[in-house]
Amino acid sequence: MSYDDNNIFAKILRGEIPCNKIYEDDFVLSFYDVNPQKKVHVLIIPKGEYVDLDDFSSKASEKEISGLIKGISIVAKKIGVSNEVKGGGYRSLVNIGENGGQEVLHLHFHIFGGEKVGKMVE
Ligand code: 5GP
Repeated sequence: MSYDDNNIFAKILRGEIPCNKIYEDDFVLSFYDVNPQKKVHVLIIPKGEYVDLDDFSSKASEKEISGLIKGISIVAKKIGVSNEVKGGGYRSLVNIGENGGQEVLHLHFHIFGGEKVGKMVE
């Protein structure tokens, strides 16, 4: 599937739509999910144009890949859900494609935390 730069996260990256920003560096942007599913629910997206994890894995540079993975931990620490914190711990997940339940076609990792996240899948 080719990347459509009219998706909502592309618009957020371009600053055309506001977000509640948590963190940004050369590789990622992180912001709060507009419709939180847990006490803490944030999103981390790569700055590059990647539809999903498979697209990212096949096309992204090593720097982009490490930047995104490191970004997840940086954000988890920043919002206080890191496992280094007493009472911390979180779930990070990525939905891929139709069966995975992906709605926005720009790769994004979710972080859920701030409380017990519960059952892994329905
Ligand atoms: P997906 O189902 O694609 O894995 O998750 C998409 C997520 O993006 C959902 O949790 C949804 O609430 C969030 N989302 C959709 N539109 C916006 C938006 O305009 N701003 C923010 N901050 N989150 C959004």
